[in-house]
Amino acid sequence: VRTVPDAALVWRDGCILWSGPRTLLPPEHLHADTVSAGGGLVVPGLIDCHTHLAFAGWRADEFEERILGRSYLDIARAGGGIQRTVAQTRAASEDALFERCASHLREMAALGVTTVECKSGYGLDVEHEVKLLTVYQRLSATQSLRIIPTLLAAHAVAPEFGGRRNAYLRLVTRDIIPRVVHAGLARFCDVFVEEAAFSLEEARRVLAAASALGLRAKLHADQLSDGGGARLAAEVHAVSADHLEQISADGIACLAAAHVVAVSLPFAALYLGARPMPARALLAAGVPVAVATDFNPGTAPSFHLPLAMTLACTLQRMTPAEAFCGATLVAAAALDRHDELGALDPGYAADFAVIDAPDVETWLYHFRANACRQTWVGGQRVH
Ligand SMILES: [Zn+2]
Repeated sequence: VRTVPDAALVWRDGCILWSGPRTLLPPEHLHADTVSAGGGLVVPGLIDCHTHLAFAGWRADEFEERILGRSYLDIARAGGGIQRTVAQTRAASEDALFERCASHLREMAALGVTTVECKSGYGLDVEHEVKLLTVYQRLSATQSLRIIPTLLAAHAVAPEFGGRRNAYLRLVTRDIIPRVVHAGLARFCDVFVEEAAFSLEEARRVLAAASALGLRAKLHADQLSDGGGARLAAEVHAVSADHLEQISADGIACLAAAHVVAVSLPFAALYLGARPMPARALLAAGVPVAVATDFNPGTAPSFHLPLAMTLACTLQRMTPAEAFCGATLVAAAALDRHDELGALDPGYAADFAVIDAPDVETWLYHFRANACRQTWVGGQRVH
C-alpha cells in the first residue's frame, strides 16, 4: 500500500485515467472540472465480497441464547438458525425485501463500500431463490452500488424435504440452477460445505451442474470443522474459499497451489466466540486473503466492513495494509473483477471513498463509527 501525499485522481466516463502526485499531473488534465477531497485519504471503494444481504427478520433471541451457552448447531437442530430465516424470507414480498436491502446498501455506501457480493440461500426452492436473486437484479438496476449476485441454493436442505437430501439436490441441480442461469440472475454458485449442511460429494454434484452452465464456484468451507472444503475449492478451481476457521495445513497448501482466494469473515468468529481464520499461515503460504462481513442474521449481523477490517488486524494478526488490500483489490479477486475494481490505477473503475484519516494504519487503528466522508461509484458521488 502506497500513500501519495497531495495526490490527484483523474477520471472520465466512470473510469480512472490518471493518478499520482498533483505536481506531476499531465498538462492536458489541468483544466478539468475539479472536486476537493478536503485533505482526506482517497482509497479505492471498499468491496464486501461475501454477504447474505437479502433476508427477512432478525435472530436477536438466538444471539442471547448463544451468549448463555447454547451452540449454533444446537439452535439450528431445534428449528432456529437458517431454517427460521428461510420461513420468514419466504413469507416476505419481493418489494419488502427490496426496500430492506436498499436501506442496508445506503448505509454501506456511507461507510465507503462501493461493491457488494450478495448471496441467495434463504429461499431454498425455485420460486424463492429466484425471488431473492430478482431483488438483487432490481437493486443493481436502480441504486448506485455494484451488486455481484451468487446463487447459494445449497445453503441448507429445504424444510419440506425432511431428510430426503438427494431429492433436494436434484431440485437444485435440475431446476434451480438452470432457471437462475437462464434468467442471467447469478455470476457464481456457492455451497455450504459442513457436517450440518452438505458433504464434499454433494457439493461436487452442485458445483458440477453449475459449472456446466457457466457459473464459477465459491465455497463456505472449513468453518465449524475441517471437512476438506479447502481441498475441494482447489479441486474445482473455485474463485474463493470462504471462512476457513478450521483449515488444515493440507488445505492451505491446496489453496496456494490452485491460486484460490481465501475470504476471512472475522465477524463470524467474533459473534460465535470461535477461533478466527489463521490468516498469517495462509499469507505465509502465498494465499491472498480477502476480508468481508458475511452479513447475515445469525452469525454476522453487521455490514460494517471497516470494523471487519480492524477485527482482521486484531483477531487474525493481519497488518492494516493487508486488511485494507483484503477489502479492496483482493476482494475484487474473490469476485474475479480485479482487472477493473479495487485499485486507483488507470483503467480501473472510478470507485473510491474519502476517509478522514492521514493513512490506512491510522484509519483502522483509531476505529470510529464512521470515518468515511464521501463515496463515489463510477465517477458519481453516491454519499
Ligand atoms: Zn456466509
